[in-house]
Amino acid sequence: MAPATPARTADHVPGPAPGRVLILGAGLAGMRAALAARQAAPGLDVLLVCPRLSPSGSSFANRNNALGVQAPLPDEAAAFVDEALRLAAPGFADPVLVRALAADAPLRVEELLDGPGGLALSFRRDAKKRLLRFTGCFSPHPRALVFDGLGQAHAAFVERLRALGVRFLAGREALEIAVADGRARGALLVSRRDGRVLKVAASAVIVATGGPAPLFGRRICGPGPGGGLSYGLLAQAGASLVNTRLLQFFWCRAGDRAFVNPGSLPWETLAPELAHMAQERLAHCPASYSLPDATLDRWLCAKRSADGLLRLPGQPALALYAHAGNGGARIDAQGRTDVPGLYACGECAGGMHGAQRLGGGMVLSALVFGARAGEAAAREAAALKMGGGPDHAPLPVPPCSGLDLPLEPGFLPALRAGMDRHAQPYSAQFGAAREAFAAWLRGAAERAASARQRLLARSALLVLEGEKKGTPGCVRLAGSV
Ligand SMILES: Cc1cc2nc3c(=O)[nH]c(=O)nc-3n(C[C@H](O)[C@H](O)[C@H](O)COP(=O)(O)OP(=O)(O)OC[C@H]3O[C@@H](n4cnc5c(N)ncnc54)[C@H](O)[C@@H]3O)c2cc1C
Repeated sequence: MAPATPARTADHVPGPAPGRVLILGAGLAGMRAALAARQAAPGLDVLLVCPRLSPSGSSFANRNNALGVQAPLPDEAAAFVDEALRLAAPGFADPVLVRALAADAPLRVEELLDGPGGLALSFRRDAKKRLLRFTGCFSPHPRALVFDGLGQAHAAFVERLRALGVRFLAGREALEIAVADGRARGALLVSRRDGRVLKVAASAVIVATGGPAPLFGRRICGPGPGGGLSYGLLAQAGASLVNTRLLQFFWCRAGDRAFVNPGSLPWETLAPELAHMAQERLAHCPASYSLPDATLDRWLCAKRSADGLLRLPGQPALALYAHAGNGGARIDAQGRTDVPGLYACGECAGGMHGAQRLGGGMVLSALVFGARAGEAAAREAAALKMGGGPDHAPLPVPPCSGLDLPLEPGFLPALRAGMDRHAQPYSAQFGAAREAFAAWLRGAAERAASARQRLLARSALLVLEGEKKGTPGCVRLAGSV
């Protein structure tokens, strides 16, 4: 248990607290949630927190400068749902959430196009201006659309949100969700510039702080300040999480992180008995957890040296890189976690993807559950405002300790090196070194002076040990650090 006394007195955010929806994280999920919240209840204060206003994270700053989105048409919905559920094992996918993706896809994608009121993103089209449809990873069916220009997409969202009256609170990071009487009441934000703590009361809180890939040293997630602590933040607030171990990993060249699909390796010379799986492996970039071609990834992992590098004859050194998570807070169809007043969407929400995610499925889920969470949170906040509900009081909880303290020197590199070594798929799952690493994380999660350090350690533990707790991939960590 960390001591409960705050290191600094917290300020309060300016502006009206009653009827406020507070959104943490301004990637695609957070932006879409803000749009929906403001549209559903224009009189509400919708506050969007971001570490910086310029593009960051995987949605708007990923190295491809493009995103694919699953866009099943109404007559493809049933096939989409069947396919997504078939790919779920050994993870958990809730059919209700998968059906929600299919049901909302046409409308959510339409809003990104150049029709009336659309955001006019740069979708790839053929010479006749028809939208091009692509296959996504793990699927032979061309249901995905692709847009280029993430900076332009970011600008389009920011402009729309500003026009609607959404307020941006830039330069801040959320390090604690305030929960009192079993209900989310706001969050504690820390200034990146001077460490000042800001208390923000709200009627509903939406967590959209992205995925766990920043916990790894070898990673190809979008860059940006902070990141990687979503699981800890949600678990600390009492939310149940699901599929936390199930990240996507890509094989890349160790030097320049250029992507290499293992299906393209010379299997006839490497291991002729496995060569028949190479074609199937070419159909998806991330390593699979349960498909037959996972045998290839397992074979490659077993050949890695202690430094995690794979050196095959005549090939550049390769390594596995963390790309994105397929887990997060378990939500219902409206994006609600099991903590009243607390919502989650995007890469920190789980249950709509299993172990193998359809390529383009995360962008669709950020849009669909961002919109659903934003709308439901706004309605809940509006109802509380009408009833003179609990949001009228200032934040009723003392901040946890160490909100303004930086990480200890060397903590993050050690955490990332340990995650590379022990939390990648097909790595030795047991053994003394792994146990020692888990114990070190546990100690940091409980006793580190810095709140950020505790959250990162807790997030890392959820990735490392998620499936230890019973239900496949499902954990519940109640209470506060
Ligand atoms: C190279 C690459 C290519 C990809 N291609 C595809 C694709 O084609 N199709 C697809 O479906 N998916 C793709 N993905 C995955 C997808 O981009 C992400 O999963 C998705 O965009 C995540 O959106 P998000 O809004 O949840 O998180 P992000 O876009 O990562 O945004 C999270 C935001 O929260 C902020 N934040 C973090 N911590 C805090 C905090 N404590 N307080 C406040 N703010 C915080 C971050 O700064 C960031 O801006 C790709 C990922 C990568 C890395």
